Amino acid sequence: MISTKIVNGKEIADKFCEEIKEKVSKIKQRGIFPTVALINVGDDSASNVYISKKQRIAEAIGISSRIYKFTAHADENELAELIWQLNTDDDVHAILLQSPLPPNIEFRKLVDLIRPDKDVDGLTTVNQGKLFSGASGSVPCTSLGILHLLRTVHKKLEGLHAVVLGRSFIVGRPLSQLLLNANCTVTVIHSFSKNITNVCKTADVLISAIGKPRFVTKNFIKQGATIIDVGINRVEENGKKRIVGDVDLENTLGIAGAITPVPNGVGPMTVAYLMHNTLELTYCR
Ligand code: NAP
Repeated sequence: MISTKIVNGKEIADKFCEEIKEKVSKIKQRGIFPTVALINVGDDSASNVYISKKQRIAEAIGISSRIYKFTAHADENELAELIWQLNTDDDVHAILLQSPLPPNIEFRKLVDLIRPDKDVDGLTTVNQGKLFSGASGSVPCTSLGILHLLRTVHKKLEGLHAVVLGRSFIVGRPLSQLLLNANCTVTVIHSFSKNITNVCKTADVLISAIGKPRFVTKNFIKQGATIIDVGINRVEENGKKRIVGDVDLENTLGIAGAITPVPNGVGPMTVAYLMHNTLELTYCR
């Protein structure tokens, strides 16, 4: 049994936000006011919580945020109209389309209306292409946050075997690319993958982003491996609602070398990098 380090994402994010706050204050002295537009569509309770968290942190850092709230009955044209307006509004530096969207609205179609140089979460086809071709552009906030957390545990990522559970365009794919860029050996697992437990057991770094509560147990983990839990799953246990990750944290203690908890792991880093990317897009204008 080894002692497992719990990586406090909240503390790391708070420190990073302090650094961003200083830079925001400097750019504001030049009469430039970083502003992010947050578009929230539908009644997803988690999205409402994330949006208000993003707004709160933006305010604390000195970044202006504008929230555009639509009901689940909003139609695509209405949302497209807003995105076009924000694209041409010189006071808006960054635009975020909060997912998930209601099923009648196609995320890819709408997100690709965002001007790539205002695409704060790096999800437009242009920015995803830039990431995959090695050009500079916006990179998805969660992936940047995960890399930041990994660098607090590992001085060098080169040569490590990173196994990424999940291949979504929001988390799994961009993260795999960032890890490749950091010279890791990367394996990506999805719902068609076989022998998942055995593959995970070869990971020096195991990152789970599949959205399955406590899917990853000690049987998946090599002694001393670093585990990053991206999952945010709402469960009801003993009559109480709570949020758990994809990893059964208690079960992995004593085997994992380091692990991020849920909550207070990756989540705060995603918000911190939303602020970081907003500032970067402000500099670029
Ligand atoms: P998603 O779009 O649903 O993608 C899930 C991925 O997991 C898919 O690639 C899917 O494979 C794979 N998968 C699902 N079940 C699997 C299984 N049993 N075995 C192997 N692979 C499996 O989800 P997402 O948007 O990437 O989000 C994933 C999780 O991260 C969610 O819990 C979400 O709430 C959380 N999240 C957290 C943050 C944060 O800031 N902490 C940010 C974003 C997302 P296929 O491609 O084959 O379907």
